Amino acid sequence: MDRRQILAGMGALASAPAFAQGIVPDDVPRWSSAVIDMHYHTRAALGQNIAHQKGAGITAASLLTQYDLIGTAAELRAQNPAMFPSWFVSDDITKPEAQARLTAAVKSGAKGLGEIKFQVEADGPEMRRVYALAADLGVPVLIHFQESIPPGGASFNTGVKRFAAMLKAFPKTKFIGHANAFWANVSADFAEQAQYPTGPIVPGGITDKLLSDYPNLYGDLSANSANNALSRDAAFTADFLKRHQDKLHFGSDCSCLDGRGTTAGRGGANANLPERTRGKCLARENLRLLAASTTPEIFRKLVWTNAHRLIGLPA
Ligand SMILES: [Zn+2]
Ligand SMILES: [Zn+2]
Repeated sequence: MDRRQILAGMGALASAPAFAQGIVPDDVPRWSSAVIDMHYHTRAALGQNIAHQKGAGITAASLLTQYDLIGTAAELRAQNPAMFPSWFVSDDITKPEAQARLTAAVKSGAKGLGEIKFQVEADGPEMRRVYALAADLGVPVLIHFQESIPPGGASFNTGVKRFAAMLKAFPKTKFIGHANAFWANVSADFAEQAQYPTGPIVPGGITDKLLSDYPNLYGDLSANSANNALSRDAAFTADFLKRHQDKLHFGSDCSCLDGRGTTAGRGGANANLPERTRGKCLARENLRLLAASTTPEIFRKLVWTNAHRLIGLPA
């Protein structure tokens, strides 16, 4: 155990009595439904995982886990089975051993593949192998879609505009769409002009249509990307959440330390990210946005019921 892990462990112990007595600090939001975070990246320091979820008022999380952190995620789940009832696994799908490693992880309990975020085409050979594997194993696959747009032109799983062909070719695969290009394409005028485009939504966007047309596509309401898309046009958002109320689920994809927006010098100062969420906890911001944009009944589906159905857990 290194010094960082020891300090994180001490932090978890120091706050344990308050949790055990069920005392929730006044500044923690109380959502109208229990909440499961479907886009939570496992952190190597165990106590940080607890602190973030407690600080944002979140009940449970599915741990997105790199293959090399499977041991850490297992330790977290063993200590907090109610808070971490599920985990997904990711591995470098450009390497030949990935198929065997992902398969082994699912056989040992992973409930999904993801997030899959590598510099490949979404309809290229590496991802086709992942889609076939997800169907064979009977688990969903969470995909980060991002096109190269200057400045900082990184791209991952490119070609979401062509994705109907994959949804058709792999009808038994459950796809979960996420990230910049997935969410920017809810507006029909998206032409790779910005990672986080602004202004009213033009109806008929590609990902909106894909969600309508293909029962095997689901949407992950996490990160700046979903926050940006669903903040652009209140009337569109209310209608979009209503139309796709059984196919969308909440996630945070937040890297803040405490569920209150505190960073360790990461994330908060990134000039490429939208101003609106700068320095804030994305879990809180996205939950607030969803709660303000829909009815309590639909909110509960988005933050609790849909995710449980997708990963086969009782809600
Ligand atoms: Zn992502
Ligand atoms: Zn946060």
